[in-house]
Amino acid sequence: MTEAETGKRVLLAKPRGYCAGVDRAVQTVEEALKLYGAPIYVRKQIVHNKHVVRTLEAKGAIFVEENEEVPEGATVIFSAHGVAPEVYEQAKERSLKAIDATCPLVTKVHQEAKRFAAEDYDILLIGHEGHEEVIGTAGEAPEHIQLVDGPEDADRITVRDPNKVVWLSQTTLSVDETMETVARLKKRLPMLQSPPSDDICYATSNRQHVVKEIAADCDVVLVVGSRNSSNSVRLVEVALDAGARAGHLVDFAHEIDDAWLAGARTVGLTSGASVPEELVAEVLTHLADRGFTEVEEVVTANERLTFSLPQELKRDMKAAAAARG
Ligand code: SF4
Repeated sequence: MTEAETGKRVLLAKPRGYCAGVDRAVQTVEEALKLYGAPIYVRKQIVHNKHVVRTLEAKGAIFVEENEEVPEGATVIFSAHGVAPEVYEQAKERSLKAIDATCPLVTKVHQEAKRFAAEDYDILLIGHEGHEEVIGTAGEAPEHIQLVDGPEDADRITVRDPNKVVWLSQTTLSVDETMETVARLKKRLPMLQSPPSDDICYATSNRQHVVKEIAADCDVVLVVGSRNSSNSVRLVEVALDAGARAGHLVDFAHEIDDAWLAGARTVGLTSGASVPEELVAEVLTHLADRGFTEVEEVVTANERLTFSLPQELKRDMKAAAAARG
């Protein structure tokens, strides 16, 4: 049946799903498995997605929390979220072969933190306490960095010199909430400097932007993504703030409760930056089986950015290719 017959449609957001940093991190593990053979150790979830982690585990990746779980001399890959300098040191001490899959846009924030710390600034890092990316960035200059976890946190900040303070941020925050936090900080610290370029990455802001476009037309917005994926969780919040009547985060199609769709005529659908497209396709099939056969893709940007694989891996791939002749 067509939409005219069922009255039900899906507004499919684009951009959605994999960003350049996630694509690179997943490829890094896959190529390392091909090149060095299983097992390959990965410190933390390579990206915050259950399906991706399970798929790589099935291919021979072993996910660990810390370097000490990796046998001496083995290969370890650091996740897309980045690590503090001490993690490289620990890897060196254990003679691990470390491959760094940190997203280059996270590395950019690390560089900013190092630079402002070297100039003796107080750095206000806006981000979620305990998130791996925040731990990694803060680890670059712990004595200079204070975490600001949301607008309310802004009021408790004290700095050494109000004329020498800068804010930086986690890459996967809500753009609007971050601006609210910055506005609140600026009330108390009028000389607060902004990052040299946006820290919230293009993928996070593009996915939020298109969700805002569709939200008001949706009875319910479904976001495919894992609970520990910051950018996916933010998409549900953004959808609700922008007027969606309801919003839900699901890892897989089978988690969709039929009650969420009862009476709905328009379902919005998107996915976080760590979500492969096959999971979105499964949700579309699930929705079609329930009468949502008409799919309209709403496009607000076309993303073409790609990142090349980590240098250390590329070098070994090249050497292996040369050895094969
Ligand atoms: S969400 Fe942004 S910062 Fe994170 S991996 Fe993707 S591109 Fe990089």
